[in-house]
Amino acid sequence: MEPVIVNDPFETIEKGQRLDRQQALWMLAKAPLGRLMEAAHLLRVKRHGDRLVTFVFDTNPNYTNICNTGCKFCAFCRPAGADDAYILSPSQLAAKVKAAYEAGATTVLLQGGHNPQVTLKDWIAFIRAIRKTCPDIHIHPFSPAEYVFMSQNEAVDLEKVLRIIWDEGVRTIPGGGAEILSETVRRKIAPAKASVSQWLEACRIAHKIGFRTTATMMYGHVEKDDDIVEHLMLLRGLQDETGGFTSFIPWSFKPGQTALARRVKHPAHPAKYVRIIALARIVLDNFEHIQSSWFSENVAAGQLGLLAGADDFGGILVEENVLQQAGHNPKATLDKVKTIIRRAGFTPAQRDSDYKIMEIFQAPDPPGIGGVASNAD
Ligand code: SF4
Repeated sequence: MEPVIVNDPFETIEKGQRLDRQQALWMLAKAPLGRLMEAAHLLRVKRHGDRLVTFVFDTNPNYTNICNTGCKFCAFCRPAGADDAYILSPSQLAAKVKAAYEAGATTVLLQGGHNPQVTLKDWIAFIRAIRKTCPDIHIHPFSPAEYVFMSQNEAVDLEKVLRIIWDEGVRTIPGGGAEILSETVRRKIAPAKASVSQWLEACRIAHKIGFRTTATMMYGHVEKDDDIVEHLMLLRGLQDETGGFTSFIPWSFKPGQTALARRVKHPAHPAKYVRIIALARIVLDNFEHIQSSWFSENVAAGQLGLLAGADDFGGILVEENVLQQAGHNPKATLDKVKTIIRRAGFTPAQRDSDYKIMEIFQAPDPPGIGGVASNAD
């Protein structure tokens, strides 16, 4: 059904008011792209100025690829006993993190499959081994969906699990596993994963304890525009309540090697990515940061997102396995990311996982890297 709007969404934004669902739906589906981008960019400028784009130098090792949750969009998981199934030992994981740290990473985003053999004690051992090997690296571990799984697997209250990890000195959590926050969609793509209310509750409890988390969204599979808008409305509502989200990070489903590829042959068009970034900046008026990534789509879409309200360019990702298994494997270096940001008209600034700026890179690119950042990855 065509979205019906009573009030012009652009006038609503100019008055500094919130878009309602119908307005948001119209903006996503129907608004002229240039006007949508401009409206989002103006909001970004109001909040962050028009100069800096931040990024983080991180790594994303996975402690296990064994998982029995069976999400239909996942090319990463393996059944226990598969030839290439693995669980890293704490020292193996720490060695990977050390290598990334020595390459410049300041943050380790830690996630893994829902593996019943991995216990809360193992999680603690992972954190302690990394801290012992790399005391200065920021540990950003386990998605809300993993916390829900760990609580069920160990039969320990969710809040208790989160408090145990808090007591290990962890202060930020990646907001993975949100996919699309619609039960109808989840039943189709991830029926055994944390439900919408469980995902939101894990974030609510984490924020209450004091953690700051990101919020993600994976679109471009079986969802409708209504579901995307619902996802944003749920995040906005929870943020009103807790204020604990740092940023919103969308990416498109990559069908390669997944069960869903039978139904969804191609990733969503990059224009959809730009529309979602812009809509997120407008609807998520209580989120500080919106991320547009060179990695999750492509360099050109990532740059366009920076002109559509995003202020953050994501991570450099020394190691990433999940999208790689789906055939998506772009590579970047610190210099390449800085160049891409500059070519979009911004000054790159390296941040930590709590979005504090560590260094602003004012200087021009060193000679010899200009040809690296073509607008294709
Ligand atoms: S997305 Fe995560 S929970 Fe789902 S099957 Fe893959 S590893 Fe398991």
